[in-house]
Amino acid sequence: MTPNVVIIGAGFGGLYAARRLANKPANVLLIDRHNHHTFTPLLYQVATCGLDPGEIAYPLRGIFRHESNIHFQLGEVVEINAAERFVLVQTDSHMQRHAYDYLIIAAGSVTNYFGIDTLAQFAFGLKTLGEAVILRNHILKLFERATWIEDADHRQALTTFVVAGGGPTGLETAGALHELSNHVLQKEYPELGHIRPQVILVEAGQDLLAPFPKDLREAARRQLESLGVKVLLGKSIVGCNAFEVHLSDGQVIEAHTLVWAAGVRASPLAAFLGVSLKQGGRVPVQPTLEAVGVDRVYVVGDMAFLEDPQGKPYPGLIPVAKQQGMLAAQNILRREAGDTPRAFRYHDRGTMATIGRSRAVAWIYGRIPLSGYAAWLGWLFLHLVTLMGFRNRLSVFVNWVWNYLTFDHAVRIILEPQSSSRIGEADGSAGENGRQKTGQERQLK
Ligand SMILES: Cc1cc2nc3c(=O)[nH]c(=O)nc-3n(C[C@H](O)[C@H](O)[C@H](O)COP(=O)(O)OP(=O)(O)OC[C@H]3O[C@@H](n4cnc5c(N)ncnc54)[C@H](O)[C@@H]3O)c2cc1C
Repeated sequence: MTPNVVIIGAGFGGLYAARRLANKPANVLLIDRHNHHTFTPLLYQVATCGLDPGEIAYPLRGIFRHESNIHFQLGEVVEINAAERFVLVQTDSHMQRHAYDYLIIAAGSVTNYFGIDTLAQFAFGLKTLGEAVILRNHILKLFERATWIEDADHRQALTTFVVAGGGPTGLETAGALHELSNHVLQKEYPELGHIRPQVILVEAGQDLLAPFPKDLREAARRQLESLGVKVLLGKSIVGCNAFEVHLSDGQVIEAHTLVWAAGVRASPLAAFLGVSLKQGGRVPVQPTLEAVGVDRVYVVGDMAFLEDPQGKPYPGLIPVAKQQGMLAAQNILRREAGDTPRAFRYHDRGTMATIGRSRAVAWIYGRIPLSGYAAWLGWLFLHLVTLMGFRNRLSVFVNWVWNYLTFDHAVRIILEPQSSSRIGEADGSAGENGRQKTGQERQLK
């Protein structure tokens, strides 16, 4: 009998699992709370007005329209029952129960505020398209507000952006924020006078890009500082409110924006499996990617905890999620065919981070270091070819060329659904500067 395979999450792990099962002997149900797949590496460009949300997302039904054995459901998985083999999905109209023979869990991660309530309340996350648009709206509204505020210190605080986390996302966001605020917006807001928008990157460790070799870590810092971004190392953020960011050494930065790129933890769905979770709430899996002690349940991507041959856990990266998604699907097919499942072997082609216009670092195949213009061109090329859909690739390419040549970020639109702004006003949840999570944000999440 053809097995029913349920896949939770249509990010990188889930999408590649479904692709591997396309036109194979399996009835597949792919469930996601969004109707699109999001290309996360370019979220920061949506937040900083470089790209439109539609350019980095692809509708899921469109991806599988030719595969008759893959079905999609829009909804939130709210329960997994591994003993009775079913999942419960909350759609916008009802709750639905789906039985499975095999389950692939690829629900990714959520922002980790390390239990600090004020961060959860006031900092901006950057995990979804909705969050990227909220941050974009917030930045543009602060510049508007800064034009009519007379007090110079207040203006400076409105145009000061703190980014937490010295990993690739933090660096990329800090570089792009600097370019947006100093090269694009400042020209359009002459009322700001002598105020220079400021971007401050805060990292708790002693280095940026910790997994990169020392030369590249230093190159990244030099390149970021040469742009004009202020880098604070060895300091952690211990709290914030709507207009201040508090550091571990007692320093207070007056800023109305804190972007949190300092950590994630596995999706809370992990708890339903009833196993003892590993660091970051990840589910321990066998090399075949089956959850330890849970029959017929495979966990992949950011949610999975598996150590490499050197004893280091595989990182939360797209290639890991893609390769694990494909292997989990393949192992289900092998098991159905009576073949031995395969163990995960990661093909690591390297990692890279862009720091802004013409600046990047890359660590190719874990051997070849590259920095500056060549690394930046490599970054552009790789992200273009891995983006989903020819139309998106073309559109992003045109936008990048335009932005590069003109210093003009075209997507400077404040887009807020009328009804949801009213929700924010009605329940008083919108903070003084909009940094407190608003009704709109709750709706978009
Ligand atoms: C801003 C940002 C930039 C990044 N840049 C890079 C980069 O340059 N290179 C790189 O290698 N990695 C990057 N990453 C990390 C990379 O995105 C993740 O490692 C990868 O997406 C993990 O894949 P996944 O399938 O485990 O989860 P995801 O791709 O996050 O997919 C999870 C999916 O599950 C869905 N979902 C979650 N919970 C539920 C639920 N209860 N019900 C229904 N659906 C649910 C979500 O909507 C989502 O579609 C970045 C991440 C972020 C946030």
